[in-house]
Amino acid sequence: MQTDLLKTVVIVGGGTAGWMTAAALATTMKGRYDIRLVESDEIGIVGVGEATIPMIQLFNKIVGIDEAEFIKATQGSFKLGIEFVNWGRVGDRYMHGFGKIGQDLWTVRFDQYWQKMRALGRAQPLEQYCITRMASRQNKFLPPQPQLPNSPLGDIAYAYHFDASLYARFLRGLAESRGVRRFEGRIDSVSQRPTDGHVDAVVLAGGQRVEGDLFIDCSGFRGLLIEQALQTGYEDWTHWLPCDRALAVPCESAPTLTPYTRSTAHRAGWQWRIPLQHRTGNGHVYCSQFTTDDEAAAALLANLDGKPLADPRPIRFTTGMRRQAWNKNVVAIGLASGFMEPLESTSIHLIQSSIQRLIDYFPDRGFNPVDVAEYNRQSRFEYERIRDFIILHYKLNQRDDSPFWKACAEMPIPDSLAHKIELFRTHGRMVRIDNELFTEFSWLQVFEGQNLVPERYHPLVDLQPEDAIAEYLEGVREVIAKCVEVMPDHQAYIDKHCRAS
Ligand code: FAD
Repeated sequence: MQTDLLKTVVIVGGGTAGWMTAAALATTMKGRYDIRLVESDEIGIVGVGEATIPMIQLFNKIVGIDEAEFIKATQGSFKLGIEFVNWGRVGDRYMHGFGKIGQDLWTVRFDQYWQKMRALGRAQPLEQYCITRMASRQNKFLPPQPQLPNSPLGDIAYAYHFDASLYARFLRGLAESRGVRRFEGRIDSVSQRPTDGHVDAVVLAGGQRVEGDLFIDCSGFRGLLIEQALQTGYEDWTHWLPCDRALAVPCESAPTLTPYTRSTAHRAGWQWRIPLQHRTGNGHVYCSQFTTDDEAAAALLANLDGKPLADPRPIRFTTGMRRQAWNKNVVAIGLASGFMEPLESTSIHLIQSSIQRLIDYFPDRGFNPVDVAEYNRQSRFEYERIRDFIILHYKLNQRDDSPFWKACAEMPIPDSLAHKIELFRTHGRMVRIDNELFTEFSWLQVFEGQNLVPERYHPLVDLQPEDAIAEYLEGVREVIAKCVEVMPDHQAYIDKHCRAS
């Protein structure tokens, strides 16, 4: 085991992963390490990845980013959830809102009472019991109001949409101002120690060596260090997540700035719509086994808010994860560590949680195999739990209009997911293991949104009189409706607090 004190950290890549890592390490490590970042303008960044989930607020807080300044700098908007169109059946539409559904009152969770009353025709649609879903429907936005701790207004979960290139630029400014040294140039080769295969330097096209003790591979899909140099291996999940291509295209903004991402299922994939202040980001994620690039482009261009601002840009990928995110003295973060399609906007969150884990297990003298194993165990757990949630959307479709959707409905799924579906199918039960990312509220919304109705509800629900349950549900619904009424329009909120110039 190497025993010298770790002094130099080299981050390879300056996309979202590279600059988020640089900003976080520079902030938390307070000058103790020499942090270097190598990127190539010639190669550029993947340039997509513009929708997030609420945990990003914590990242921004840790690195000291002011929200209004950040939204202005990245032409951003607020996000309260994702609208799924055509996912269960063609014509279906549901919102997966952030945060809570309902309000617990008795022993059993809110949704169990709702299931009973829905069956009796005495409940409103589930979305009426969720503030972020109702606010999304009306294009309203307000951050949580801490002075109202007992109101739904005190508990609004939200995230952001932003321009990925502007976010990387913003973080770069921040990281460089905190001492990160940037090296520009294409890395031509990776130098490894003959003794143990650890990386000791990356060598740029002009011959310059950038040396380090710990290397963070943020080089994107190519995995320059983790795969090309260390040949760590990749676990392919195409049999569960079959989409393998995307076309991305920005277009003119729609007149209304919606506070949610939209995901519209097409015949062999789905299209994202991400509203920003200066444009709308769009992309079609599709499966090349079931459609052609031309058909995919036509479907994408037929579903834009306004005039396209560029030609569709193709991106190819293989869903899955690196067998080890940390191998020898290389930690892969971002696309270098794996990729699940952006259906639930989880990639940037995975970058954030990898950075947090790296900080938790940061090496001092050498690389302790126990720490490395634990880091890798946690990464795998996180990836697999998110993977199951994303597969759920595909598996739970009832579309019979295309071979792609039929194949998805029939495909075998991981046992861990089959278990969750079975728990819900019988009694509407849900389980969240070891603080996994998606809560019961998220699972409930997809189950319900994609038409899985449980056979039974919890037996204790019958202990409450029906009228009392009806009154309870109505009370929750009314409070939420009143709260949404007082929330400002999303566009008006942005104009007042964070309009980009
Ligand atoms: P990249 O952006 O590819 O950066 C790689 C860096 O490595 C670049 O700076 C490049 O110059 C450098 N590099 C590579 N090779 C060399 C070399 N030889 N020499 C020098 N430098 C080199 N995530 C979300 O959270 N939400 C979303 O909505 C979302 N949508 C997505 C849609 C699609 C179609 C795809 C593919 C991804 C999406 N993601 C999304 C994921 C998100 O885009 C990425 O997680 C994020 O951009 C991080 O990318 P990265 O920094 O790992 O890689």
